[in-house]
Parts: sequence; structure tokens; C-alpha cells
Amino acid sequence: PQPGQPLLQVSGAVKQFGGLRAVSDVSFELRTGEILGLIGPNGAGKSTMFNLITGVNPATSGQVRFGDQDVTRWRPGQIHRLGVARTFQHVHLLPDLSLLANTMMGGYARGRAGLLASLLHLERAEEAALQHEAMRQLRRVGLDAQAFTLAGNLALGQQRVLEIARALVADPTLLLLDEPAAGLRFGEKQELVALLKRLRDEGVTILIVEHDMELVMNLVDRLVVMNHGEKLAEGSPAQIRAHPAVREAYLGV
Ligand code: ADP
Ligand code: MG
Repeated sequence: PQPGQPLLQVSGAVKQFGGLRAVSDVSFELRTGEILGLIGPNGAGKSTMFNLITGVNPATSGQVRFGDQDVTRWRPGQIHRLGVARTFQHVHLLPDLSLLANTMMGGYARGRAGLLASLLHLERAEEAALQHEAMRQLRRVGLDAQAFTLAGNLALGQQRVLEIARALVADPTLLLLDEPAAGLRFGEKQELVALLKRLRDEGVTILIVEHDMELVMNLVDRLVVMNHGEKLAEGSPAQIRAHPAVREAYLGV
């Protein structure tokens, strides 16, 4: 899709876990080339929404469209191959492997347990191609000089950036980031914001869940606010700041 066209469309999405409606009739769209923030209190359903978009936990009802495809019932690997990549709320790295090896893991969207096995069963030529791509993404995020250090030696801010490099393997058009700035120091947060803006300018559309309101307001083009599984509001940072229900439910003012 061209800039400004809908890239992702979530329509009437519901996710039921037993008696709990973690996502309740949520609709929104993400336009090509924008950064959309998804905010809301803990338990609002943000991570569940990510799982629904990436096929990890498909919707109970409703629809997810990516480009002109209905991906609602697709498997995670299929959605990944279509160009949707993500990072997780908690750091998911293998600390005893190099940055390069960790980044190469992004070439697979299989079960977590299958990642290492997949890597070990690669053909030589495939491995070389994947290694080249992983190095290219490390360069893109500024971690290439440390490609052969162990991931466990990185500061948290760099680990978060490494996870982004891993997600960028194979050039996704849509990047989903679940609280990428959690636990980061001020300077690390500023570097992260600069990186995400640069990626957006390079054509990556971004959906970000983040609790740091200063960071979010400085980064995103638009926001969707969730509360108790429902969409509470949607709009520009200025509109959301001024929205009475959001101020009451979320900002606590
Ligand atoms: P957020 O990311 O906004 O903090 P989550 O999407 O993680 O919220 O959770 C929304 C609600 O769904 C919470 O009440 C949570 O306990 C529940 N939940 C999330 N995942 C599952 C699951 N796999 N099984 C049962 N309940 C879940
Ligand atoms: Mg969450």
C-alpha cells in the first residue's frame, strides 16, 4: 500500500479467555508510514491485541486485515512472512549467543523452542544469506560493531535495540513493539525514539505499546487508547491529552 493507505485494519475484534473479555469489539486502522501508539492501563488488552494481530492468539470474533488479505485465521509464521514482525513485552534474547546469532533468529517465526533447532538445520547457503541479512539489520540499528559479543553483555537499552534488529530481519512492512522503552534510562529512551523515527522515515509502519507518555507523545502520529478491553478513544497526541475520559481513566487527572 502507498503512504496514507490502510495497512492494517482491525474490525470488531474480540478475544475471550474463558469468562474474561480481554479485547472487546475493538476497531482501528493503521496507515502505511505512520507510527500509531496503543496505550492504556495494565490489563487493558494491549498485548492481547498484539497476539491477535500476529496470529499467536487468534481473535474469538472480528477481523484482522493486512493489506488486502484477511489474516484473521492465519498462523504466526504466515503473518510473519507477509511482513509483520514484533518484539515482546519482556526481553526474549539468548544471552549466551552473539548479537549476530540472536538477530538471525528473526528469520524464523516458529515456536520459540523451534528457533535454535531451525537455525541448526539451515543449509550453508541459507545460513550465509541469513547472516548477511542479520548483519545488515545490526548495521541499520547501530549495533554492527558488537555483532560478535554476547547478547547478555549488553545494557538493557541495547538489548531492546537488538530485539528490534531481530524483528527487522527480512524487512517487515509493519513492526509491532510491546513496551520497548520499559526500564530504559533517559538517554537510552531518546536514542530509541530517534531510531524508531528513522525506521518510520525508511518506510516501516510502526504500532507501539508504551507506558512512558512523554515518549509516546513525542513519537507517534496517532493514538488508540484501550481500557478494560475496549477502545476508549482515538486521535492525535493533542486530542488524546485533552480527552476527558482518557484523562480520567488513564492519566488519572
Ligand atoms: P495489557 O498488555 O494491556 O497490560 P493484556 O493484554 O496482557 O493487557 O491482558 C489483558 C487481560 O487478559 C488481562 O486481564 C490478562 O490477565 C488477560 N490475559 C491475557 N492473556 C491471557 C491468556 N493467555 N489467558 C487468560 N487470560 C489472559
Ligand atoms: Mg502488555
